[in-house]
Amino acid sequence: MSFDADVIIVGGGLAGLSAAITAVKEGLSVIVIERGEYSGAKNVSGGRMYIHALQQLIPDALERAPLERPITKETFVFYCSDDKKLTLSFEEKGKKNSYSVLRAKFDQWLAKEAESLGVLISYSTLLTGARREGNGIVIETNRGELRAPLVIEADGVTAPLSRFLGLRRMEPKYYMLGVKEVLNIKPEGDEGEAVTIVGLTKGYKGGVFTYTNKDTISFGFTLKVDSLYNSDKPSHQLIEEIREKLGLKGEILEYSAHLIPYFGYENLPKLYDANIMVTGDAAGLLYEDGFVIRGMDMAIGSGMIAGKAAKKIKDLGDYTKTDIYYEMLKESFVLKDLENAWRSFKVLEADEKIYSSYPDFICSALSKLFSVDSNGRQRPLKVLLSSAKEKGVSVTEALKDIMEMVL
Ligand SMILES: Cc1cc2nc3c(=O)[nH]c(=O)nc-3n(C[C@H](O)[C@H](O)[C@H](O)COP(=O)(O)OP(=O)(O)OC[C@H]3O[C@@H](n4cnc5c(N)ncnc54)[C@H](O)[C@@H]3O)c2cc1C
Repeated sequence: MSFDADVIIVGGGLAGLSAAITAVKEGLSVIVIERGEYSGAKNVSGGRMYIHALQQLIPDALERAPLERPITKETFVFYCSDDKKLTLSFEEKGKKNSYSVLRAKFDQWLAKEAESLGVLISYSTLLTGARREGNGIVIETNRGELRAPLVIEADGVTAPLSRFLGLRRMEPKYYMLGVKEVLNIKPEGDEGEAVTIVGLTKGYKGGVFTYTNKDTISFGFTLKVDSLYNSDKPSHQLIEEIREKLGLKGEILEYSAHLIPYFGYENLPKLYDANIMVTGDAAGLLYEDGFVIRGMDMAIGSGMIAGKAAKKIKDLGDYTKTDIYYEMLKESFVLKDLENAWRSFKVLEADEKIYSSYPDFICSALSKLFSVDSNGRQRPLKVLLSSAKEKGVSVTEALKDIMEMVL
């Protein structure tokens, strides 16, 4: 079988473009197929990118990339059922570790970087099927077929390539629904804030976020898909209710909804097979530990590693040796961080209490601790125990959850 390129990459988002840039720098010929009219047309993110991986990919990215604002303020808000709320804020002026981004702008810029290095990107090209033939893979698209000995899958959360090749099926329990709006509200100053809000999506496992961009605010929520089964409220109604509750009044410039992988380290799908390496959301590489949520740096990181692995595999001349990619992932921040987060991830994934009774318990205790009357004041421990009882929280279980999250 004759081949069209050393590597075909399916999907021109962060993972695919990072793989393409790396592979072409390694001297390989690369074709990317992207179903959108341009990179970024179909991509959704809440909007904060931890930039360490981007800086490895493009060392002067901080000067050139269309990043919005450095996020220097972290705020967590816990809403309780009786309109009480607890707010925690942490500010570190001048910090440049993560930035808000708008994907339509960002991905187009990254695609131009790739093209300037010699990557061929075929837009409006939809993967419609795939099959093994000879010693390679045939990629079937709406615009004809392409053949390569090695394919990097970067087609996002629904992983159509893996499914066409029979490597996996989609199971709702491993996904979240993300709904996002960009609001025409100009934030003050020139540094950014990330706000995580728990307790506004009552009855569902999930949370609400806002990020400040240069001239707008990104706002939305993420919910576990399996907690939507008994829902009688469509997502557009839920987002309207939450927007009103938060008093966000700007014009809606963009609305999007997208699935998010939510596997966790021990449930990851197949990351490689003969002639194929799976990256980014397609590989389920989403990190969450209660403090940070990361998919974008995981996508860039896994894409870069796949690009480097492609060169090693070509040099070996054996395109079944894609376990090289897995070994490299294990040595990198991608799988090391995901493994470290697994215990916290399990608590967040399984525990309904995190989203409802724990915030209620904390608010009830704080309400008592900040109140004074003539009946005599209780010791703080007694206040905590009585609030826990009142809100149906087992202190032992709560302590166990805390230990799982932090140890
Ligand atoms: C609401 C929301 C909030 C989020 N917030 C954050 C955040 O704040 N920080 C963070 O780090 N991560 C966040 N994420 C996760 C992050 O967006 C993803 O992890 C990241 O975009 C994954 O990049 P990717 O390249 O793997 O996939 P994608 O960006 O989804 O790219 C996949 C590409 O493949 C293309 N494609 C798909 N199917 C086909 C096909 N059949 N044929 C051809 N092309 C195809 C798509 O058009 C797309 O361009 C959020 C996600 C959502 C939905």
